[in-house]
Amino acid sequence: MTPATTFSERRVALFGLGGSGLSTARALIAGGARVAAWDDGEAGRAKAREQGIEPVDLSAADWSAFSALVLSPGVPLTHPQPHWTVARARAAGVEIIGDIELFCRERARHAPGAPFIAITGTNGKSTTTALIAHILRGAGKDVQLGGNIGTPILDLEPPSEGRIHVIECSSFQIDLTPSLAPSIGILINLTPDHIDRHGTMDDYAAVKQRLVAGADVALVGVDDSFSHAIGARLIAARREGQRIYPVSAARALDWGFFIDDRKALYREAGHGPEETETLGDLEGARALRGAHNAQNAAFAAAAAWHCGLSGEEIARGLLTYPGLPHRMEEVGRRGRTVFVNDSKATNADAAEKALLSYDDIFWIAGGKAKEGGIEPLRALFPRVAKAYLIGAAAQDFASTLEGAVAYEHCGTLDVAIARAAEDAALSDAREPVVLLSPACASYDQFANFEARGDAFRLLARELYAHAPIAGETP
Ligand code: ADP
Repeated sequence: MTPATTFSERRVALFGLGGSGLSTARALIAGGARVAAWDDGEAGRAKAREQGIEPVDLSAADWSAFSALVLSPGVPLTHPQPHWTVARARAAGVEIIGDIELFCRERARHAPGAPFIAITGTNGKSTTTALIAHILRGAGKDVQLGGNIGTPILDLEPPSEGRIHVIECSSFQIDLTPSLAPSIGILINLTPDHIDRHGTMDDYAAVKQRLVAGADVALVGVDDSFSHAIGARLIAARREGQRIYPVSAARALDWGFFIDDRKALYREAGHGPEETETLGDLEGARALRGAHNAQNAAFAAAAAWHCGLSGEEIARGLLTYPGLPHRMEEVGRRGRTVFVNDSKATNADAAEKALLSYDDIFWIAGGKAKEGGIEPLRALFPRVAKAYLIGAAAQDFASTLEGAVAYEHCGTLDVAIARAAEDAALSDAREPVVLLSPACASYDQFANFEARGDAFRLLARELYAHAPIAGETP
């Protein structure tokens, strides 16, 4: 744990008692703060009590006594409207911050030179964060991985010179971190998302920009117009000593970090192609298929390079990266057939990435439909051998597929995977892929996308157990 000592002896209001809220409360208490913690829901308050934290009703509190309001990132700061605790804090002139801000203050006070890599972007945050941590660990570094992925930041070990914090930051978290100044800041990409929580695209981009603007080394994507514009603004306003690098997976750059012919490359400004350094080869990196993962890999290679790793160490890390659950996760093989769990693909945009990454796809799709359905995927239908439809969206998806792709209604995931596996085994494809990439939310049949992906993994394993193929290991 990282005790948050910068509020020692002071009173702090804390709202939101989910996983990260409780972690923050514990860190503040360990650092000597007097914490008044509250949640609108009884479940959160009960959890706090279990941990010996007696909730304090903030609606009845004297706000003039608080030095800060520490907010969970899920609680609206600005849109659609400020949460009532935000309104109370503002009225009382109390600053509003989050757990990453507490970490930044701790680092500034006790270990200002401690390596701190912060990662944001609309897509690919978790993959890039996990990949950076994997590469660094493979090279023997002491790595702490967390933030918006896995472990809340204050549950990690404290910052220190010989330890690298690799932290995924959502835009909500950046909003709550006014002194964010990582040693390496990464902005992968930017497309319209979460506008309901940020008001406008400009506001959303401004929040994301802060993560790289404050960084000593800023790695900024140039493959979309929003990130490209941010990179240009950063260069125009460059601070003394700040280094800013463009990163691309779409084209070879004159300088910066980029992917060309599936190789991760670095070229220094003013150097020619013959002086380009190779940092890795994505050919054979099974968990980094697809152009989207090439983008994530370019950033991970760039961050590792700045941590002083050699090209060989980076290349080894890219090759051995095991992938994250539910994101094009290869859960096993039966004969020639590969089973891929991409349950995280809850909309057409995410499913597109998977459909682009494989040929001969036996596609399990459906669930609770999102606006627009699978119409945006029409150009990729030729890659699909057949579709197996489940859940509430089945009828809707069937009308889109009609005449373009063979499909059948399967109702539930167990029927779909069994039917898809049968057809895949009978096909003459070299490597047929049974792909769960639903392009839908899961709530009609599962608690969340993780539960859906876990069910797929289990069902796939049962299939190998009950129908082993001679000479093949599942
Ligand atoms: P995040 O943490 O930003 O949600 P993840 O790494 O968890 O991102 O990936 C979630 C999904 O987003 C993946 O399953 C894939 O469909 C898509 N994705 C991943 N990386 C990228 C990228 N660089 N560009 C566009 N889409 C991506």
